[in-house]
Amino acid sequence: MRILVVEDEKRIADFLGRGLESAGYAVDVANDGTTAIELVHAANYDMIVLDLGLPDMDGLKVLEKIRLRKVSPPVLILSARSDVDDRVKGLEHGADDYLVKPFAFVELLARARVLLRRGQPTPEKLSVGDLQLDCIRRKVTRGAENIELAPKEFSILEYLMRNRGRPLSRTMIVEHVWDMDYDGLTNIVDVYIRHLRSKIDDKFPEKLIQTVRGIGYVLDAPEK
Ligand code: CA
Repeated sequence: MRILVVEDEKRIADFLGRGLESAGYAVDVANDGTTAIELVHAANYDMIVLDLGLPDMDGLKVLEKIRLRKVSPPVLILSARSDVDDRVKGLEHGADDYLVKPFAFVELLARARVLLRRGQPTPEKLSVGDLQLDCIRRKVTRGAENIELAPKEFSILEYLMRNRGRPLSRTMIVEHVWDMDYDGLTNIVDVYIRHLRSKIDDKFPEKLIQTVRGIGYVLDAPEK
């Protein structure tokens, strides 16, 4: 997996490059928009991390150029602009996700992992350990037991199961499940996770949902 980081601030570019490399990705760095566009035409990237404030052109301009290509990788925008307007503009220009500076690296990594697995086929039935989820019939079972979930609980569980083993931040869960900007209301996720645990984990010896300190939650089961 090869990631292009487009960022003019050397400190941030280094920190992202090092972090992503130690997470196992190949990383190229472009310090301005022109270099970024050249690199995108010369190599195949699996993802692009794009800063909006570049010295030679607006990051949105770069995004436009990238999107002109037939096959264009997912783009995660980085920006100091926290305005909802900019966020919307970025997504309208075809960005796949948006992160406001300053951000924690773990948050960026979690989002990158989700974007990188997009485009892979999505199975209709998910299973992790003895937990099974049928996305079409919207049925959940653990072992022989049927589990009734409220719609939001189901969506959170499906999202966690589709990203098995990948920590998802509270913000990601909120954005995925509520389809709107719930910034600052991420506590709602903890409430729903508590409900989910009481239904799928509490009475079973093996717990599938784990809390990841400083990030959010991950769902996984040991390989049998
Ligand atoms: Ca910048």
